[in-house]
Amino acid sequence: MLTIAPKGTKDVLPDEVYKWHYVERAFADICERYGFREIRTPDFEHTELFKRGVGDTTDIVQKEMYTWEQAKRSLTLRPEGTSPVVRAFVEHKLYAEAQPSKYYYNIPCFRYEKPQSGRLRAFHQFGIEVFGTNNMMADAEVIALGHDFLQEMGITDIELRINSIGCPNCRSKYREVLKDFLRPKYDCLCDTCKSRFDRNPMRILDCKSPEDQELVKDAPKMLDHLCDECREAFEELKADLDAMGIPYVVDPGIVRGLDYYTKTAFEFVTTAIGAQGTVCGGGRYDHLSEELGGPPIPGVGFGLGIERLLITMEASGKEIPKPAGADAFIVVMGDAARKEGLALMRKLRGEGLKVEMDDMGRNVKNQFKYADRTGATSAIVIGDTEIEQQVVSLKDMESGEQVTIPMDEIVSALMERRGQ
Ligand code: ATP
Ligand code: MG
Repeated sequence: MLTIAPKGTKDVLPDEVYKWHYVERAFADICERYGFREIRTPDFEHTELFKRGVGDTTDIVQKEMYTWEQAKRSLTLRPEGTSPVVRAFVEHKLYAEAQPSKYYYNIPCFRYEKPQSGRLRAFHQFGIEVFGTNNMMADAEVIALGHDFLQEMGITDIELRINSIGCPNCRSKYREVLKDFLRPKYDCLCDTCKSRFDRNPMRILDCKSPEDQELVKDAPKMLDHLCDECREAFEELKADLDAMGIPYVVDPGIVRGLDYYTKTAFEFVTTAIGAQGTVCGGGRYDHLSEELGGPPIPGVGFGLGIERLLITMEASGKEIPKPAGADAFIVVMGDAARKEGLALMRKLRGEGLKVEMDDMGRNVKNQFKYADRTGATSAIVIGDTEIEQQVVSLKDMESGEQVTIPMDEIVSALMERRGQ
């Protein structure tokens, strides 16, 4: 128990962390290129934020939150990224800056779910949000960033599915149509969905139970009940995606698992990794800020699961470059050489080189063996003779070739090797 991590959590070990570094750098890089700036919010918030933001008839709020009470305050580990970013935006009055505001983040999220491949209890998301514009061009740009990032990550077997889930205006009418459809099936719905029937019947469309999914298969679609404004917005979105050459399919079945969405809803889905195929999901949320007590601030964004991204990249055969070993491993013979080696190691590190030395008291043969195992490119050999003559032997670990060079030429020699 003490040496086993909790169910649904995963360690990232040093041997695989380079993959995380790779996608994290690539994501930050594309976001900066597209004019987004990073925002960091705390890992927990007042519980009320998620109840109001995500919606209290959603799976997340009803079943999945890690909530505890401390000093009479109810707090919750962040299950998703958008509500905290909207909270921060309102709290710090960032709407006073030039609009729109474009943010990105890289966050841990926590949901008490049934763990499976690609579904964890502690997982990670990349996300972006654009605040302050109603224009569908922002939706198209958000989708384009997701598309371009997935392309850059070598994922080809992925489909963009888009839908419109309307606005409070058309949705309230649609709800009645949907309730009329669901009423005769009410008794067969799962208990959670029964409780949603009056409060939020659209949630029933997103129920994960296979029986309920079968029951709602032929339900009327929001897309057929949009008001003029929402229909026009959807046409604009499609036209902008066409203009950017981004392929999509219209999927009237996309509802999304969070209540705050309005108009645009989209998912990037892959068939390469089995059931948990939604790598990225997002949409527009024009009333979230008001729902949280802030001013009216339209927004649009997405969340992209990093674990699912990595599994998909692996399934797509994407090769992530492994980090290089040390530029040099300093092999020493005797205590005087060890001291000389320590000074040299600090000097070379100060020059920006990656340099290592044995600190287990190994003999020369085992120092070489260890240098080889850790993937060092070169070995620098120092013994009494070398100290006397102020030279070192520089050995290419791959070819085995060895040359003697003056101490003060080591930096340039190593730099040259690195450049090759
Ligand atoms: P799903 O329908 O698969 O449960 P969701 O609609 O709950 O997904 P969002 O809340 O939109 O997902 O989160 C955005 C992305 O975060 C998902 O597309 C997925 O890649 C990732 N994600 C969500 N839940 C988990 C989880 N429990 N473990 C790992 N990744 C997750
Ligand atoms: Mg979910």
